[in-house]
Amino acid sequence: MTGQPQLENGPVGLLLSGGLDSAVLLVHLLEQGHAVQPFYVRCGLAWEAEEQRAVERLLAAVRSSRVAPLVTFDMPLHDLYGSHWSLTGRDVPAAGTADEAVYLPARNPLLLIKPLVWCHQRGIRRLALGTLRSNPFADAQEDFLVQFGRAIGRAVSGHDAEGRPGLPHVEIVRPLAQYTKHQILQLAGAAPLEWTFSCAAPAGGLHCGECNKCEERQRAFALAGRPDPTTYAVPPAATRVGDCSAHDIPQSRASRGHEPPTPPR
Ligand SMILES: [Zn+2]
Repeated sequence: MTGQPQLENGPVGLLLSGGLDSAVLLVHLLEQGHAVQPFYVRCGLAWEAEEQRAVERLLAAVRSSRVAPLVTFDMPLHDLYGSHWSLTGRDVPAAGTADEAVYLPARNPLLLIKPLVWCHQRGIRRLALGTLRSNPFADAQEDFLVQFGRAIGRAVSGHDAEGRPGLPHVEIVRPLAQYTKHQILQLAGAAPLEWTFSCAAPAGGLHCGECNKCEERQRAFALAGRPDPTTYAVPPAATRVGDCSAHDIPQSRASRGHEPPTPPR
């Protein structure tokens, strides 16, 4: 894949949130012949119970002998985020708000540090993120992730769990980084998307249908031309999903018509 790390077949760590992006990446990595070590990082955020159920169902649906048992880390953030909406579930950014509204301070480094060290200790050389092209946040960009991966590698001094020196740092890779969310849905094939979860304000275990993340999900399915398998507590308004005006459609798609993107390698 142009401009992205070319992954030779070998074990890859994967931050698995239970959302669409990491679910598609899980299936993609398996299709590429990799063994996958999934990680979930529990931070105490308002939607994590539903996310963790999604991760369990997703892994059960994939049923691959090349997926190692899930490793879950705790990274509690109450002491850092305080009364932030991500912890309280109140005043969650609604549909119509910009992507920047769902920014969580230092989200990626907080998620990455324990899986990075774990991978380093066990000789796993790559840790994959389902970051997409549309991610606007600085801590999801390649330059940051390269430097962060190297910094953690330096912090652990190149020693594995047995104290053997000389292991290189774990490379953080983003195999989906040139794609938008609707493009990866076009690439998703038979990925069990019905088991994914991506809502900031779950309602009775369901996607709320009204938050920023639900709107992003609905729009992606609509743009991808795929039926949305999600059950929403508040069903999407036909006008909102159907009204995907030109400014919602990435220029690359508009200029190339509706052909599916080239699958990542
Ligand atoms: Zn929602």
